[in-house]
Amino acid sequence: MKTQQFVVIGLGRFGSSLAMELMDLGYEVLGVDINEEVVNDMSEHLTHAVVADATDEEVLKSLGIRNFDCGIVAIGDDIQMSILAAILLKELGVQTVVAKAISMLHGKALSKLGVDRVIFPERDMGIRVAHQLVTPNLLDYIELSKDYSIVEMTVPQCLNGKTLSEVNTRARYGCSIVALHRTEGVIVAPTAMDQLHAGDIMVIIGSNSNIDRFESEAVNVKS
Ligand code: ATP
Repeated sequence: MKTQQFVVIGLGRFGSSLAMELMDLGYEVLGVDINEEVVNDMSEHLTHAVVADATDEEVLKSLGIRNFDCGIVAIGDDIQMSILAAILLKELGVQTVVAKAISMLHGKALSKLGVDRVIFPERDMGIRVAHQLVTPNLLDYIELSKDYSIVEMTVPQCLNGKTLSEVNTRARYGCSIVALHRTEGVIVAPTAMDQLHAGDIMVIIGSNSNIDRFESEAVNVKS
């Protein structure tokens, strides 16, 4: 399979962390930043890092930007720069363009210009932390739609040793346990006879209200 190649425009806190994680995951990453100091700091961590103005079409062409599978515009503060860079990546033929937005209006503009995915890191992290603060057992969650999510929760002591059929989340709470992480590995699509062990992480899918009900009635119970 062809290695996916990423270009990250803007190596601030968000861009550099994203670029380094992609490297850790085994992908090739070109980092582009207008600031030489930033590029020097990152050069040893990325496949390539270059000093360039991402709003200069000729410079982007000379970097062979159109050959990248995915381009991420991680410039936030200067909305004009962010929008120009995103337009150029699209126009030069980068297959998937992702851009960070710092406000709803910024995000709307990026979407209208055909950016494939707009992300709001500060807003999303704020929402995530709020959910974790009010639901102590919640480790992580992915919003599938406004009403449906996939969440990760630790199996509490009160469910230790129970089989999935005993807990019967589907009939009782309308949500399903779709995976269990334990030290020995991950059980994907566990069967009715699989047992929960306190400390396992269960991955649950369902409507937010049903997951909340399961959490408050079955998980957050003092044994
Ligand atoms: P973060 O929160 O991720 O630190 P930020 O939202 O504060 O970033 P900026 O500081 O505006 O965003 O930009 C991030 C990086 O993008 C900076 O390192 C900056 O030098 C770089 N940058 C800004 N404009 C351009 C441009 N036209 N071309 C390339 N890089 C740019």
